Amino acid sequence: MSLTPEQQAEIDELRSSPTPTLRVVSDGIEKHLYKAIPVLDHGFVRVIDYMGDDAAICQAARVSYGKGTKSVQNDEGLIRYLMRHWHSTPFEMCEIKLHVKLPVFVARQWIRHRTANVNEYSARYSILDREFYIPAPEHINAQSVVNNQGRGEVLSPEQTAQVLEVLKADSARCYDNYQNMIDEDGIGLARELARMNLPANIYTQWYWKVDLHNLLHFLRLRADAHAQYEIRVYADAICQVVADWAPAAYKAFEDYRMGAVTMSAQMMVALRLMLKGEEVTAESTGMSAREWREFQDMIS
Ligand SMILES: Cc1cc2nc3c(=O)[nH]c(=O)nc-3n(C[C@H](O)[C@H](O)[C@H](O)COP(=O)(O)OP(=O)(O)OC[C@H]3O[C@@H](n4cnc5c(N)ncnc54)[C@H](O)[C@@H]3O)c2cc1C
Repeated sequence: MSLTPEQQAEIDELRSSPTPTLRVVSDGIEKHLYKAIPVLDHGFVRVIDYMGDDAAICQAARVSYGKGTKSVQNDEGLIRYLMRHWHSTPFEMCEIKLHVKLPVFVARQWIRHRTANVNEYSARYSILDREFYIPAPEHINAQSVVNNQGRGEVLSPEQTAQVLEVLKADSARCYDNYQNMIDEDGIGLARELARMNLPANIYTQWYWKVDLHNLLHFLRLRADAHAQYEIRVYADAICQVVADWAPAAYKAFEDYRMGAVTMSAQMMVALRLMLKGEEVTAESTGMSAREWREFQDMIS
């Protein structure tokens, strides 16, 4: 990740002038405010602003006049109850605004999460930086043979070197052409047109604001092992922020979402029979081979 000295100075200045406020302050997230958490080779996540904390979730759930806190233990119990029973609106009372720098192909997956507010860096107005995501060798894998949507074994060192060479050369060549096309003393092509020559590993940036309920939904999908590594590392960084911001909500999320499984009616029948010591098969329960494998994974 690279911040220019000017960008770092702006962050330092923002962090050097605290303002007293009557609003809720979460000490855990204050330590993250404005700082850039590095992700991938040039990316980052920065917390720009936030609203609410664990107590705000309880305040909304109780529709109370005061801070909403009965006791930390009571609050934790309430938050866990809300999470367990999908009573989601109290979690929507907390919001977070992030500044994210990410490769375009990651942004394409990210933007599918429609329940956020986004403002992206304009490549019509501004010139994109010469920054491309080049994966570390240990993340350069062959196509998976068991999952069409994923990677398998790491490539050989020779193949990895070949891939890296192609990625670097193509990125450089495309950017050189981009620069030549927009050059005001040369062709002077409009930036909005020249950008179409840039590959999907170029970095973009956006501000992304979302409430805690929808953020947890995003994290459930994108911090999961099935998500692509390049978006998962962003989700992992955000998980750390949320754990510091609203620790009780995050713990409940870990227990009732990330670490939990959803069983179908057929799976429940199979599990009950197994607990009684009866033999159960995919055929006898009407599960497909894939569903049966998933069931085995859940209970093993
Ligand atoms: C591992 C993985 C693989 C994926 N593979 C593919 C793929 O191959 N192709 C592909 O196109 N996408 C793929 N996706 C994207 C996926 O299908 C979802 O679009 C994405 O995860 C956003 O989820 P969401 O709609 O629940 O989130 P959000 O957009 O944040 O929505 C949250 C919830 O709000 C509700 N909601 C929001 N908008 C609407 C609406 N307009 N109408 C009704 N309900 C709404 C829904 O209940 C939704 O679950 C993949 C995602 C993952 C995690």
